[in-house]
Amino acid sequence: MIVVCGGGVVGVSIARRLARDGYEVTIIEKEEDFGLHASGRNSGVIHAGIYYTPDSLKARFSIEGNRRIREFVKEKGVPINENGKVIVARDEEEYGRLLSLYERARGNGAEVYLVDEKELKDIEPHARTFLKAIYSPGTAVVNPKDVMRALVEDTMNTGRVRAMLGVRCLGRAEKGRVKTTAGLVEYDLLINAVGAHADRIAHTYGVGLNYRIVPFKGTYRRLVRGELVRGNVYPVPHPKSPFLGVHFTKDPYGNVFVGPTAIPAFGRENYGILKGVDSEAPAILLRDLTLFLFNPLFRYVALREPRKYFKRSFFNSCRWMLAGLEYGDIVPSDKVGIRAQLVDWDTKEMVMDFVVEEGEDSVHILNAVSPAFTSALPFADYVVDEFVKSHLP
Ligand SMILES: Cc1cc2nc3c(=O)[nH]c(=O)nc-3n(C[C@H](O)[C@H](O)[C@H](O)COP(=O)(O)OP(=O)(O)OC[C@H]3O[C@@H](n4cnc5c(N)ncnc54)[C@H](O)[C@@H]3O)c2cc1C
Repeated sequence: MIVVCGGGVVGVSIARRLARDGYEVTIIEKEEDFGLHASGRNSGVIHAGIYYTPDSLKARFSIEGNRRIREFVKEKGVPINENGKVIVARDEEEYGRLLSLYERARGNGAEVYLVDEKELKDIEPHARTFLKAIYSPGTAVVNPKDVMRALVEDTMNTGRVRAMLGVRCLGRAEKGRVKTTAGLVEYDLLINAVGAHADRIAHTYGVGLNYRIVPFKGTYRRLVRGELVRGNVYPVPHPKSPFLGVHFTKDPYGNVFVGPTAIPAFGRENYGILKGVDSEAPAILLRDLTLFLFNPLFRYVALREPRKYFKRSFFNSCRWMLAGLEYGDIVPSDKVGIRAQLVDWDTKEMVMDFVVEEGEDSVHILNAVSPAFTSALPFADYVVDEFVKSHLP
């Protein structure tokens, strides 16, 4: 029996692949339903391989993941907005970075075009840019909850997957046994796919001891005049920030979300101001303070992002991207997610690529950050082929 802890997109995709190969799998998920954390709270953007460094797993899996998740949603009749995405520049300096991003995307094999202001108007009539924009026709948007529902159904329909919902994995008991809130559960192999909590479970297996997860809160607002956006309007990412910047994303139901921010959070599920702040908060605060001192990227983010709690500052960060955008067009939204960012504590660096490590009888998904939603299907194949199979008879 293979036990997968975590019923997000990564855990469910791994279980689905294993079940299709004929293995019996149990998913242990602490919530009463699947996908209630990052996998159901993200932007729903099916990325197209633009941003990632050429040799990275992210570059490798986001292009294939884009194709496969689009095929999957079409086969299942899940709504999708296929109006693409534009990346726009504010000034000459950003334009230089936009050109470098374009080259990187092409190097990754992504389908991207450089378009001038006139062509931009045909794609996104209200978007503004300095000289040129990047156009990615293959970027699409779904409602992540729809995709999770279809993926779970497809996985359970294999008949080889059992779900233990409302049960929490607590960590290793002894070889072949994991402690859970429902008692000891036996396994041949345990796969840790618990997202924002992955380092804690891994540490009980003596794996990834140099890693700590640092949570960032991604808040969203909503655009009232949805007609101002057709697909996605993104800024060029700032070189000092590991995140993509607040952007406009239209879901298949016509809702335009603006966000997400990347505000240091005080809990792994700190969705409100105080909601989700637990006994770990002092330890997280200490980690944040340490990173503030030793990591310039973290310092850049920590000094700027919290201001976006205030509407004026949030509005100023995105107003330049759309002609005619008014202060009243942006309204509150209850959409919020937590980005589980892995940090290598030996170097105090944020780890940018996906990370998988294995123990004697376990495999741990330690850094399934964006675009892991897009990449989930090929990423699951990689985890199974490169890590899981060698543990199984
Ligand atoms: C704000 C935001 C926007 C994003 N936008 C995009 C995007 O547009 N496109 C994209 O490709 N990616 C995006 N991402 C990234 C994407 O959402 C994640 O990479 C992906 O959802 C990670 O999936 P996961 O299964 O690892 O984690 P999760 O979805 O968090 O799943 C982990 C599961 O484990 C469970 N769990 C935790 N601890 C335990 C335990 N001890 N025992 C049992 N179960 C446990 C949790 O309840 C949860 O269901 C975004 C992320 C955020 C936060």
